[in-house]
Amino acid sequence: MKILLLGKNGQVGWELQRALSVLGEVVALDRHLANTPYGDLAGDLSDLDGLRDAIQAVAPDVIFNAAAYTAVDKAESDRDTAHVVNALASKVIADEAKRLDAWLVHYSTDYVFDGTGSTPWKETDSVAPVNYYGATKLKGEQLIQASGCKHLIFRTSWVYAARGNNFAKTMLRLAKDRPVLNVIADQVGVPTGADLLADVAVAALQQAWVKPELSGIYHLAPTGETTWHAYACCVIQFARDHGEKLEVQSVNPIATTDYPTPASRPLNSRLDTTKLRTSFKLHLPEWQSGVTRMLMEALNK
Ligand code: NDP
Repeated sequence: MKILLLGKNGQVGWELQRALSVLGEVVALDRHLANTPYGDLAGDLSDLDGLRDAIQAVAPDVIFNAAAYTAVDKAESDRDTAHVVNALASKVIADEAKRLDAWLVHYSTDYVFDGTGSTPWKETDSVAPVNYYGATKLKGEQLIQASGCKHLIFRTSWVYAARGNNFAKTMLRLAKDRPVLNVIADQVGVPTGADLLADVAVAALQQAWVKPELSGIYHLAPTGETTWHAYACCVIQFARDHGEKLEVQSVNPIATTDYPTPASRPLNSRLDTTKLRTSFKLHLPEWQSGVTRMLMEALNK
């Protein structure tokens, strides 16, 4: 199996480099020119012609797209770039996948929904993004589906990775310096590890490879739910229990409206994962297990 990985250095892309290595030959690209067995290639999603050329040069059996314009607030003002990277590049990738009869594995977001109510979103629920990032990711999904290529699109939420910065590490850093933290308590979702997103995508692809009717959109997140505030409290308690010296005395719950940002955020980011679990007979862990592993690494325990 020949695999083209786009966005190799993002949270999910980095974990995919690990998870894909046992499936076959992996050509992993980021936006910069790289020397590959297929020539000097770049996977820059803002250069649609260059992107098409790179896919044609590799002629993969599977394309994993982990690249995206993920700066949610910046997308409100940098609309053209967000649209090209999240929507138009998805069409180029999907059209090439269709032409090659290749699979496309792609990631999307709960931000395609408006965040109303408290019920976990199903794949069949109506979409209505509340910010421009969500709108571009939705357009990307629609263009992939319209292309007719074999695809697995995983909508997920609140992604973190052991590598690089994430919400939990930011809370730890702030808790070391500040006596009081104010954290949003009315957005509900599920912290999802990039390692889980990579591993589940690989497991699902292996099944879909021999069962093309599994092509479609799936919701993917661990079990359970939390708020940013409860997540922060959990991280801080864990650090204290493991001997970290923290300045923080109180972690105050605040409302989304108390923390205005350029892009609106949906309040309900819960995802119903029944379709994924039953279609692929997969078990999803509780969100705390992945966060604990990441914290053990971050705290060097
Ligand atoms: P990251 O922001 O960690 O990684 C995104 C990657 O995309 C980066 O490596 C970035 O490269 C790359 N990228 C951005 N623009 C371009 C471009 N023009 N050409 C090539 N590469 C580009 O994102 P995640 O790993 O967290 O996200 C993976 C997927 O999950 C995305 O589809 C995202 O929409 C989705 N998702 C993410 C969530 C989250 O909380 N992060 C929540 C829900 C869904 P560079 O480093 O060079 O900028």
